[in-house]
Amino acid sequence: MTDRIREFLKNRKDEGPCLVLDLDVVRDNYHAFAKALPDTRVFYAVKANPQPEILALLVKLGSSFDVASIGETHAVLAAGCAPDRISFGNTVKKESDIAAAFKLGVGMFAIDCEAEVEKVARAAPGSRVICRIHCDGTGSEWPLSRKFGCEPEFATDILELAHKSGLIAHGISFHVGSQQHNVEAWDRALASAAAVFRTCGERGIFLAMVNLGGGFPARYLRKTPKLESYGKAIFRSLRRHFGNRIPETIIEPGRGLVGNAGVIEAEVVLIAKRSPEEDLRWVYLDIGKFHGLAETIGESIRYPIRTGKDNAEKVPCIIAGPTCDSVDVLYEKTPYPLPVSLAIGDKVLIEATGAYTSTYSSVGFNGFPPLRSYII
Ligand SMILES: *Cc1c(COP(=O)(O)O)cnc(C)c1O
Repeated sequence: MTDRIREFLKNRKDEGPCLVLDLDVVRDNYHAFAKALPDTRVFYAVKANPQPEILALLVKLGSSFDVASIGETHAVLAAGCAPDRISFGNTVKKESDIAAAFKLGVGMFAIDCEAEVEKVARAAPGSRVICRIHCDGTGSEWPLSRKFGCEPEFATDILELAHKSGLIAHGISFHVGSQQHNVEAWDRALASAAAVFRTCGERGIFLAMVNLGGGFPARYLRKTPKLESYGKAIFRSLRRHFGNRIPETIIEPGRGLVGNAGVIEAEVVLIAKRSPEEDLRWVYLDIGKFHGLAETIGESIRYPIRTGKDNAEKVPCIIAGPTCDSVDVLYEKTPYPLPVSLAIGDKVLIEATGAYTSTYSSVGFNGFPPLRSYII
């Protein structure tokens, strides 16, 4: 929570839950990445929060961008980014979208299987391709798991096919899982990447780049290591596995760049006790899983929730959203301590909600409008 956000919320006139995001925090985070990983270029993962003001700021700061779709490509170009600073990082793309991105000047694409290489070779001839290898996501709170990436042993064959198809086999990418708590999580993937560099070299294909992905955490309830520790651990692993021939590296932070820049203000709609004996209370907010808090699925991400009464005694509560859908419960397995004196109509602040919230909001399920965003 920054003074600017506090001031904005104090003067806000309209009703309903909203996200307020402070661009100064995004700017500070960008500089923190540049400092922690000084030889690594930043490609902002647009899906974390694609608001035009954020993209425009990052263009101005010199960031590059990781996009997953043609829509995100247009958004980044509209913010003033040159197409040579865009990486199309989704390994699952329609051929027509690859062709459209290529026509707009995008020249770098992620692939993780032979069929995707064939698509890129046809739709974006001569482009650079990065082969994504699989990571198991251990240590992360939001793993990206088995959906993406080939087994490292297969990457050399896939990159060789790319090379023979007239593409530039440019490097390796991976994602260690989002909200990664273990600063050493990059080590194993970098060992695999170095092995692929060697086997490709033996076949006369010289890779140049390692895309270190995202995974850098935002601070929620659980304490996280400092960005500096991630930078140091990654550099040590690069040295360990690549020796004096450290390749060009890029990172694709999403959560770590915008997560802590945003705060959601919401309101308590109802506090209910469901039996005379039970102490557990149900606290219903005017925001839930369908209005941006989708990352509470499995209670993975535990947001800090502040109230105006945090000095009062706290009792365990089940927190739920306002819709008539029973999956719309935020925290139940592990109840959330909230003040005894919390009352219907009170405002609550859900902190570190700058990433993966506003675009997860449904267009109007149950008649609730989508989450409003203010970028200040
Ligand atoms: C989502 C995503 C990211 C961003 O991950 P964070 O953990 O939010 O930093 C980076 N790269 C790719 C390919 C992604 O899909």
